[in-house]
Amino acid sequence: QFPFGRRLPCDIYWHGVSFHDNNIFSGQVNKFPGMMETVRKITLSRAMRTMQDLFPLEYNFYPRSWILPEELPLFVAEVRMLKDRNPSWKPTFIVKPDGGCQGDGIYLIKDPSDIRLTGSIQSRPAVVQEYICKPLLVDKLKFDIRLYVLLKSLEPLEIYIAKDGLSRFCTEPYQEPTLKNLHQVFMHLTNYSLNIHSGNFIHSASVNTGSKRTFSSILCRLSSRGADVKKLWSDIISLVIKTIIALTPELKVYYQSDIPAGKPGPTCFQILGFDILLMKNLKPILLEVNANPSMRIEHEQELSPGVFENVPSPVDEEVKVAVIRDTLRLVDPQKKKKKDTHLIFPHLHSVLIFFPPSYHVMYNTEKKFRLNKIILSFHTHLLIFPTQVQSLHAGIAGNYLGTASNYEELPEAALPSLCLKQVFPKYAKQFSYLRLVDRVAALFIRFLGVKGTTKLGPTGFRTFIRNCKLSNSNFSMAAVDILYIDITRRWNSMGIDHKESGMCLQAFVEAFFCLAQKKYKSLPLHDQVASLIELCECRLAALRGKRLVWGCG
Ligand code: ADP
Repeated sequence: QFPFGRRLPCDIYWHGVSFHDNNIFSGQVNKFPGMMETVRKITLSRAMRTMQDLFPLEYNFYPRSWILPEELPLFVAEVRMLKDRNPSWKPTFIVKPDGGCQGDGIYLIKDPSDIRLTGSIQSRPAVVQEYICKPLLVDKLKFDIRLYVLLKSLEPLEIYIAKDGLSRFCTEPYQEPTLKNLHQVFMHLTNYSLNIHSGNFIHSASVNTGSKRTFSSILCRLSSRGADVKKLWSDIISLVIKTIIALTPELKVYYQSDIPAGKPGPTCFQILGFDILLMKNLKPILLEVNANPSMRIEHEQELSPGVFENVPSPVDEEVKVAVIRDTLRLVDPQKKKKKDTHLIFPHLHSVLIFFPPSYHVMYNTEKKFRLNKIILSFHTHLLIFPTQVQSLHAGIAGNYLGTASNYEELPEAALPSLCLKQVFPKYAKQFSYLRLVDRVAALFIRFLGVKGTTKLGPTGFRTFIRNCKLSNSNFSMAAVDILYIDITRRWNSMGIDHKESGMCLQAFVEAFFCLAQKKYKSLPLHDQVASLIELCECRLAALRGKRLVWGCG
């Protein structure tokens, strides 16, 4: 217990919302710096677009998207062109405010002219996306899947996927969108937070009925109908790996800025919530990635009008307890050192958990890591002493202080098998060719210069061009400066991050693609970019070699 603030280092820090503590110099933190920003709707759409430009077939699991307001003219023009080409195409689009969640502010439209431009788009940018009109239905209802993914490490990349997830159902039978039903949120949006308010929501005591079910119960049903469930899982695994590959370049820029290499700092891991929709033909489509998936394992029940009580939710408990338990098993710091030990936690000094104001924490000091609802104040810390996973003794400042007195060793064999399945590096070979933007990000980071920044200054950009020998008589240093100013000004005017001036990673990627197109005109985009990366890496390696020789001399 640290009533006057934490002074001792911990093995694991469990932050409630985001990575925010710059005074951590060791151990592991459950959040990556910049994850919240990286998975916002606009940033995710941009990262996916870059990958779709490079690898159109591999990234066709993400709906065609445009960013508003800046791409409104492009959206209008592309839709018109596609309709001219195929007059029978009758699309529907979904408009989603950036930074929104729980279905907030989302609406469907049939035509670009239906976008609500009245002030809000300017003040609140959004993503407009092709609406998937033919989702897979179960019991005539649309549903989506929430899968939990553990990003255990960024460098080297390590990804785990939970074997089970949640299926969240709409509460009105689905019909393909028409002008008449576009507004029916209980038919089109699967958000739990919306559907809970429909009179038709069913809280079930069983995990395979009701409005929230386990994903495994859906798979069983599909399998009994003869569906190829193995192929579906393999498609979902590829979707998750490819999405994370699209996110890693941006994450690495934030990481080096908050936790510079070579200085003492923690390592990070994070549980992400992937929202996936299945099409009628069982193709999985990525809807979004949540940096802070809800870990609640109870729901509110109205006992009498206006009187609510929290009751356990078996389906949430089944899925989420296993995810947290196994995340802790996987990040157990001593496990790496003592691979052959059969103990799980006894070597942890402590686990420190930070909660935001009024955060609802469920825990039980006897049975499992759950139950009582406790409202914690901002500075309250939950300290878990070294003890059994199944009976975590939690000490909560001001409420209850558990002791480590019945500290015991629990054999790993006594725990259920891991629900988290490693997919990367396990399948790394199949996917490593997709990591092109990662290499562009490595060049960007190298020229950032002063540690702690996320944006490249004009001198850094010039040094990059000079060291990689990219300027010549056709592309003067004056032209390099103009390229830098043009692209940087445009990206900064889009108003994503005004904290720092300079060129952000996505602007650098655009400049890099421009340079690649200039240099290798006749090749397709992917080959242009790959060739320029190789050229830059080669020239930088040669330069390093020369410097080493000079150094020796
Ligand atoms: P939020 O963060 O507000 O929940 P989402 O992107 O998850 O936003 O969208 C909310 C819901 O809208 C999803 O759960 C899904 O049911 C539906 N939805 C979102 N995008 C699409 C799409 N492209 N096609 C069909 N349905 C979608």
